[in-house]
Amino acid sequence: MAIRPILVVPDPVLKQVSQPVERVDDELRALMDDMLETMYDAPGIGLAAIQIGVPKQVIVMDLAGPDEPKAPRYFVNPQILDASDETQPYEEGCLSVPDIYDEVERPSKVKLKYLNYQGEEVVEEAEGLFAVCIQHEMDHLKGVLFIDYLSRLKRDRASPRSRSRPARPDGPPRERGGVSSASERLQHHIHPAVLSAAVRRVVRRDRVGLAASRHIEPVAQHAAIDQIAGH
Ligand code: ZN
Repeated sequence: MAIRPILVVPDPVLKQVSQPVERVDDELRALMDDMLETMYDAPGIGLAAIQIGVPKQVIVMDLAGPDEPKAPRYFVNPQILDASDETQPYEEGCLSVPDIYDEVERPSKVKLKYLNYQGEEVVEEAEGLFAVCIQHEMDHLKGVLFIDYLSRLKRDRASPRSRSRPARPDGPPRERGGVSSASERLQHHIHPAVLSAAVRRVVRRDRVGLAASRHIEPVAQHAAIDQIAGH
């Protein structure tokens, strides 16, 4: 097993659509082992193969709490067979989008089909954190990041909030504060002049195709996130 580097925005590889796996063999299990180790090291509760640059429909997950024994799960070629009309908001984060946390509204229950670590077909119902996590990870397989939803969320926030938040048993720590979106949070922390300089820098680099995450500073990275999210 090996820990692999996790790609972060705005790496264009994260926008790639992942392909179905032909068969679950030892080579694929070695990939899943690496993904799990990488996820535990991060630490995170879910990881899609594209986040380590492999465009295959593979997801690993472990939703066990900090005091519980490890419970790794593997999803190959996952498909959603059915989704509830009822939705739930949940504050999400992503290992590929450092330091940004925001609410995304998704179906609260989904029925899914996938191949497990042994290559056996499984049909299962997911709800709660499991439903949130599998939908978030399956978005990665389509090249979609949770920040792609944030513009719509901002509109939703114009109306009063009535739903209560579900409990969050584990996962990375969330930022708290009086700011409500990635963009506002960013502006809250960074002087406007610095921010606009960063945006100009990202735009310029984008034009010449050099905006890969490893080439730019964190501030510019945040500005790039806002660009991606359509702010
Ligand atoms: Zn993610």
